[in-house]
Order: sequence, then C-alpha cells, then structure tokens
Amino acid sequence: MGRRKKIVQECETLMDNPEQIRNIAIAAHVDHGKTTLSDNLLAGAGMISEDTAGEQLAMDTEEDEQERGITIDAANVSMTHEYEGENHLINLIDTPGHVDFGGDVTRAMRAVDGALVVVDAVEGAMPQTETVLRQALREGVKPALFINKVDRLINELQEGPQEMQERLLDVITDVNELIRGMTEEMDDITEDWTVSVEEGTVAFGSALYKWGVSMPSMEATGISFGEVIDMERNDERDELHAQTPLSDVVLDMVAEHFPNPLKAQPFRVPRIWRGDAESDVAEDMRTVDRGGDIVFMCTDIGMDPHAGEIATGRVFSGTLEKGQELYVSGTAGRNRVQSVGIYMGGEREELDRGVPAGNIAAVTGLKDAIAGSTVSDVEMTPFESIEHISEPVITKS
Ligand code: GDP
Repeated sequence: MGRRKKIVQECETLMDNPEQIRNIAIAAHVDHGKTTLSDNLLAGAGMISEDTAGEQLAMDTEEDEQERGITIDAANVSMTHEYEGENHLINLIDTPGHVDFGGDVTRAMRAVDGALVVVDAVEGAMPQTETVLRQALREGVKPALFINKVDRLINELQEGPQEMQERLLDVITDVNELIRGMTEEMDDITEDWTVSVEEGTVAFGSALYKWGVSMPSMEATGISFGEVIDMERNDERDELHAQTPLSDVVLDMVAEHFPNPLKAQPFRVPRIWRGDAESDVAEDMRTVDRGGDIVFMCTDIGMDPHAGEIATGRVFSGTLEKGQELYVSGTAGRNRVQSVGIYMGGEREELDRGVPAGNIAAVTGLKDAIAGSTVSDVEMTPFESIEHISEPVITKS
C-alpha cells in the first residue's frame, strides 16, 4: 500500500476517536515562520519529503501565493502523530499571515481548539501577534507559543546563553501580558491560559534548520540548551535535527496541551453559538455526538478545478455524509452533499464514509454556503457571525 493511502487509512480510523483528535491553527505575524513551521510538521508526519520541507511551502497552494511568498487562503491538512504510545489525528488549518486577511484568520479560528502562536525570537511579539491572539481567545481557542529563528540569536547576533535566555523570557512575558489582558475580561476562561516553559506550553527552535526544544523534550532527550547552542554554532544542524526534531517537539506539545473536541466543545459552543442551550442540538454539539443532529460550520470556500466549490469547516455534531440534504443558514431550501473528504498535505481526499463530529471536513455540493454559514439537517439558530478584528496597517520592512 502506498504511503499516502496508509496515512489516509490511519486518519479515517482516528476520525472516530475524538479523544485523539486535535484541531489546530498556526498563527503568526508575517514572516515569523508559520509556513516553514507548517512544512516541518507535514514532513515530520511523512506528508512531504524531509529534504524539501521549508522550500516546498506545501501550505501555499495558490500559485499566486507562492510567487508573492505570502499565504492568502487558509489551507488545510490532516496528519497523524504518535504521542505517549497513542496515535493522534492533527487537523491543521493554515491562517493567512498578511495583515490584509484578518477575516480569514478569525474564520480559521472558529474551526480549531488550539492555536500555535509563532513569534520570531529576534523581532519579538509584533502588532499582528496581538491580533491573532485576540482572534484566538475570542473564539475560545487555547494558545501555545513557539519561539522561532533561535538560530539567528546564536549565529547572527552571537548571543551567549544568558543574553538568549533573557531575550526569550522577554518574548514569553510580552505574550503572557497580552493573554492575561485579554482573558481577564472573559469570565468563561477559568483556566490559566498564559504559556509557560515549565508547563511545556512554550517551545523554541529553528523552523529553517528543523530543530526544536521544550522543557519536556529536553528532559526526554537529555539535550540541554547549552548543547543546542554549541551544536548550532558548530554547524551540526543535521545532527541537532536528528536528535531533537522540531516536528516531534511541537506535535507532542499539541497532543499534550491542546484540548480534544470532547473537552473543547462544551466550553466553546456557548461562546460561539447563542441558540437555546436546552435544545437537543445544543446537547449534541456539547457532547460531540456523532449520531446527533448534523451541524457543520463552514469556515472557508475554495475552488477546485474539477470538483468546483469546496466548503471547508468543522463538524460540531452528527456525521456528514454524501447525499444528505442540508439547510444553509440565511438561504431558502436545502443543498445536497455531493462528496465529503479531508485534506492531506494540502490536497483534498474524498472518502467513501462520513466525517463525524469533532473533525474538519471538505464538502462539495453546498452551493449556497459561504464562509461563516451554519449548515445543518435541522433548522437552527446559526453560529454567531464572525467578527473581523481590524488592525493597524503596517508595511513590511
Ligand atoms: P510566514 O510569513 O510566517 O509564513 O513566514 P515563512 O515561513 O515564509 O518565513 C519567512 C522567512 O523567514 C523565510 O525566508 C524563511 O526561510 C525564514 N525563516 C523561517 N524560519 C526560520 C528560522 O527558524 N531561522 C531563520 N534563520 N530563518 C527562518
């Protein structure tokens, strides 16, 4: 069996186990390394070749995006990752890194439960870091931090361990100040959502050279920060990548710290949906009931040259299947689902089966759906409209 087919099969098996699903987004200020990191994760999961990760820019599906070097449309991929002896299905939604596309970022956040915030170690938290954090927290999406381009501190800035530590701590403090300020007003976020090295919700590394470290990874590999600095300085990057690969460090963090749909939906549904909390459909969404009413939140409409319009989004309850006649919020009549599928390495894979609650699905046939539509088999209150958070216009330096 081909590698790809095997991964699709693995994903199909995992789709039925919500405990093992993590729906995540990577969000960052432009150029902080979101695309390079995404490619690392895909390569680590066997979706693209290790050699070309970072060059291939698999997430940038549109030609135009590759030419311009920015990600415009949210692209989506599913991958698998083994953590503590259990396989996990990681559905990753890419978010646009450019200031003009704030609306897409918020839409992507609606579909996920965890946001990996990438910050460039040299530049630190930037205006768009604040915007993406605000977008995540408003949607009830839990943050974790990856501080990227640490290689530059070592090689370009020639910083010593003390200086580096101070700089990294400053980045963490800045990000936590933002998180604290934003969550203070949110009564339903009762957990401490600030990030911490000790807790394992912060990782550092180099997406370009594909190595990463976190407190748990250092404990597991025995590689200290000092050794990382020495190896990076001595140009032993391949060795560093082999010993402490970034994809493992980050995906372990995702599996351990981001909530699965069973944990996330009871908390997120009241935040993003204001319908009758006592209704059956509310209960179905809170419990991620795959046998319940079908509720799909469309977060993106893409174009496929062969299949036409593809609606991507999160299945909050029920199981999406080919042939279903579904209501689309704000429109009259119903649409018939032509196909359902998932994303693999940026490509859509149609499935012969349904996509159950808790997953990200790619659907054709929903001709009336737009990004933001609530699609369901019962007439229901739609999800809250997605607020676009505007931000100051900044020019790329
Ligand atoms: P995005 O705009 O956030 O998607 O950023 P990209 O992933 O496209 O990266 C922007 C630039 O930073 C590219 O030239 C990358 O090669 C570079 N870059 C990304 N990660 C690293 C890193 O860890 N170290 C260094 N030195 N450069 C990096």
